[in-house]
Amino acid sequence: MSRILQNVEVDLDQELSEQLEWLAPGYGHFQILKKSVDARRGKPRFIYSVEVFEKSEDLKKEPIRLQKTTVALDHPVIIVGAGPAGLFAALRLLEHGIPCRLLEQGEPTEKRVLSIAKFWRKGELNPRSNVGFGEGGAGLFSDGKLITRIKYTLITYVMQRLVEFGAPEEIEYLSNPHVGSDKIRRVIPVMRKHLEKLGLEVRFNTKVKDLIYENKGVHGVLLESGEKILSDHVILATGHSSDIFTALHQAEVFMEGKSFAVGLRLEHPQTAVNKMQYRDYFEHPKLGAANYKLAFTNKTSGVGVYSFCMCPGGYVLSSGTEPGQIVSNGMSNFNRGSAFANAAIVMSVDFQKNFGSDLFGGMKYRTQLEQQAYAQVLGSGGDAGIGSTAGTRRELPAQRLLDFLEGRKSGEIPKTSSPSGAVSAPLHELFGAEFKAPFAKALEKFDRQMKGFVSSEAILFGVETRTSCPVRITRGESLESLSHKGLYPCGEGAGYAGGITSAACDGIRVAESIYSSL
Ligand SMILES: Cc1cc2nc3c(=O)[nH]c(=O)nc-3n(C[C@H](O)[C@H](O)[C@H](O)COP(=O)(O)OP(=O)(O)OC[C@H]3O[C@@H](n4cnc5c(N)ncnc54)[C@H](O)[C@@H]3O)c2cc1C
Repeated sequence: MSRILQNVEVDLDQELSEQLEWLAPGYGHFQILKKSVDARRGKPRFIYSVEVFEKSEDLKKEPIRLQKTTVALDHPVIIVGAGPAGLFAALRLLEHGIPCRLLEQGEPTEKRVLSIAKFWRKGELNPRSNVGFGEGGAGLFSDGKLITRIKYTLITYVMQRLVEFGAPEEIEYLSNPHVGSDKIRRVIPVMRKHLEKLGLEVRFNTKVKDLIYENKGVHGVLLESGEKILSDHVILATGHSSDIFTALHQAEVFMEGKSFAVGLRLEHPQTAVNKMQYRDYFEHPKLGAANYKLAFTNKTSGVGVYSFCMCPGGYVLSSGTEPGQIVSNGMSNFNRGSAFANAAIVMSVDFQKNFGSDLFGGMKYRTQLEQQAYAQVLGSGGDAGIGSTAGTRRELPAQRLLDFLEGRKSGEIPKTSSPSGAVSAPLHELFGAEFKAPFAKALEKFDRQMKGFVSSEAILFGVETRTSCPVRITRGESLESLSHKGLYPCGEGAGYAGGITSAACDGIRVAESIYSSL
């Protein structure tokens, strides 16, 4: 009989198999269930949960298989958006034998990669196909962190399927799993081809302009081309940057304002972060690029400042989706091999307190910051790049952290990881005291936790505004819109997910709800 060993501590210079010889003498083989690094004090060590099998036992995993529906629909389910939510909704529906169509305004991965390169190299932004839009959604150019705070049982399904499509097997057991942008870009096309084999009809470069409404229900979608596609089940998985929210509001689809977070992206040399986290062991070959997670909440005001979407060995990206606006974000490849580490440092923005009854107050604030960041780049005379389209700039506005805290513009910005470059800009002028004071206090605290966090090497980039959606398209128990039957708001744009894994799980939940309703 196999048995599970929890909290198995393995020294940096030891192998797990050696430790297992002590704990389960004569074992046949083992399977790692969980692995993490404990570097809090002393020499860092690995902590494992392991299932150990006898020699005669089989290690095979049970594949997850779903029941097929016996009901035939009048029209296939429509899924709008090919991000993690839309793709996993499609997978789950098809595995249940429910036909569906996937409509995506952006390009397939292979072409999208070229459009993004054009933007970073030449400043030519494709507003339909960029770091935020296109096959794979916002997560295609990401660190591919698959960690989520939500404890969905569906996570196992997501990881298993991703591994089947080519993701590294370790995502099934690491406590901090990540795929890396280079690998996600290979996994997503494999997933699409699999979905097509199961019968998916997928249309790229196809923008949904509005939905077709009748008697407080949704019965299909209206494309930008004027074409109408009918269905009594529409999954809206359009992410937090789509412009579809205005059309939904005009049709009186019920939505609420939602708190979110804004801030800046901070970059350090990776070696500096390794030294802060691993101390004397910072060069140990088994440890790799160190990460961090920091948070500080002011007890009186309740305002929280925290690190978000940390990318060890990563790149700071210009990831805007519209001309005249600049957005920062981060990604890394599977090997986390860049010489820099970055993370967003953001402050929570309470919807009620800041915007009251203005549903789109958060959206407007986000846009305003992004436009100001763009104006700063223009003002700093950054190199627009050859052939840049009107209203686009490829560089990010940047400032040394120490200068931001002192309120002065930096001189020249040293080499950074940004593939589209950076220009010196007075980022401190973008925010008022309500941001700068808690931000400075939190940084002081972070520097106490990680000595050297506030240093002359630390560079800030503007602006980190697309952390989550500032509105929610409220759902009822059946996961349909509270106001419109047949409309299934889904994923991050609907306000029900924050990250790749939670968006994928939400897609599955919505698919399951449709399956149950049949
Ligand atoms: C650079 C970057 C790095 C990130 N790193 C991580 C990370 O490491 N880990 C993590 O968990 N999360 C990360 N995220 C966040 C993560 O990508 C999102 O939370 C996730 O992708 C949300 O999934 P979604 O399917 O709900 O929406 P999205 O991924 O946003 O997908 C929505 C899709 O809908 C399409 N669409 C929108 N409107 C229309 C329309 N009208 N018609 C047709 N199509 C439309 C869009 O083009 C888009 O492809 C990152 C995001 C970015 C931008």
